[in-house]
Amino acid sequence: MDAIVTSPPRIERDDRVRAVADVSGRPGLWFSVEERFADLIGDRADHVAIGLLMPAMKEGRALHIGGVMTDALLHSVNGDLQRLLRLIHPELHAIRVTADEVAAPPSPASGVSTGFSGGVDSFATLAEYLWADDVPVSLRVTHLLNNNVGAHGHGAEGDALWLARRAPLERAAAEFGLPFVTVDSNLDEHYPRIGFIQSVTMRNATVPHLLSAGVGRLHLASAIPFSYVRIDSSGEIARFDPFLVPLLSTTTVTVSSANSGLTRVQKTLSLIGRAESRYLDVCTNGDPRRTRNCSACSKCMRAMLTLEMAGHLQEFCPQTFDIEPYLNGRDAFIASVLSSDGPYPREIRDYAKEIGWHWRASDRRRGAVQKARDAVSRLVHEAASLPLARPLRRALHR
Ligand SMILES: [Zn+2]
Repeated sequence: MDAIVTSPPRIERDDRVRAVADVSGRPGLWFSVEERFADLIGDRADHVAIGLLMPAMKEGRALHIGGVMTDALLHSVNGDLQRLLRLIHPELHAIRVTADEVAAPPSPASGVSTGFSGGVDSFATLAEYLWADDVPVSLRVTHLLNNNVGAHGHGAEGDALWLARRAPLERAAAEFGLPFVTVDSNLDEHYPRIGFIQSVTMRNATVPHLLSAGVGRLHLASAIPFSYVRIDSSGEIARFDPFLVPLLSTTTVTVSSANSGLTRVQKTLSLIGRAESRYLDVCTNGDPRRTRNCSACSKCMRAMLTLEMAGHLQEFCPQTFDIEPYLNGRDAFIASVLSSDGPYPREIRDYAKEIGWHWRASDRRRGAVQKARDAVSRLVHEAASLPLARPLRRALHR
C-alpha cells in the first residue's frame, strides 16, 4: 500500500492562525490558535507525526512526514512508541516513519502548559503546579490549553459543544491570571476508525509539539492513579500514560503525567477550601445549553458523594452543585458504588474504610441486589454468545 505523505506544515491566516500540512489522499491536517498566540507555533513537523501515527498504523501504511522532525522523536516513533501502542492495540501494524529532514532538538522554550477542562484532574494539576507554595519555577504553569481534538464529539455539533464549554473556563483562566490558549483542529477527522478514549493521549500530545516555540512542557493531567496503571484489553490508552508520555517527549518538549500518585478521591479532596473550585465542571451531561454541573450524572454524583463523606458538600452548594438532583439519585448511586469492581467505586469504598464512614443497612441491601442483578445480566450476555445458545433458545420457544 502507498505511504501516507504529508507536506511541510505552513501557516495560513483567516480569523485564526492555522498550521496546515497537506496529507496525501485525504484532507489536510490543521491546528489553529488565536492570532495573539501565533508566536507559540514552532516550525517543526513533530506534531504531524504524532497526530498521524495511530491512523497510519491502523491502515498499515508507511508515513512520510514533510518538513523537519526532531531526531529523538523519530527514533522513538520507529521504536518503543509503536511497540507500546501495539501492546494495548494489537490490531495496529508496525510501520516505517520517515521525514524530509531530521535535526537535533533545539533548546526548550520556557512556557509550561496544562490542559484546562475544569474537571477534577485539571484542578488537581493546578493545585500542585500553580497554587502550591513550593512549585519549582521550571514546573510552574504559565499557559492553560483547551484543545478541540475530539473530546467534544464530531463535526459542527462537537464544535458547538466546545464553544459552549470553554466560555466559563476562559473567565476562570482570566481570574487565575493565565493565558487561555484554545487550540482547534480537524485531527478527529483523521481518526475515523479509532475512538477518542483509545487515542486521547496521542491526540493531546500533538499540541505542546505544535506550540514548541513557546511551550517546553505539558503537564498531562492523569486520569488513572499508579495503582491502576496497566496494559489490559480495555483499550483505554490513558491507563498506560506513565509508560507512554516519555516516548512522546524530546529535550525540547517534555510531556509528563501529572498527579498519577493521587487517587480521584484525593484529587477531589484537594478542591476543598479553594475559592477557584467554583469553576469546577465535572459533568458529563452533553447538553450544549448546560451551563453548570447537572448534579445527577455519575461524575457529578461521584464528586458530590466524596465531598459529602468528607463533610464539605454544603460548601459547594449551590454555587457548584445542586443538592436536590443529588439526593434524588444518591441511593441508586451508592448501590452502584457498593456493587461495582471499577477503580473509582473501589477508591470510594477504600476512603469510607479509611475515615470510618458507615454505609446504612439499606445501602448495603441495595448494593447486594445491584450486584446480583449485574451478575445475572453478565451471565445472560455470556450465554447469548455461546454457539449452543441459538438452538437452545429455539427449543425453549417451541
Ligand atoms: Zn453531571
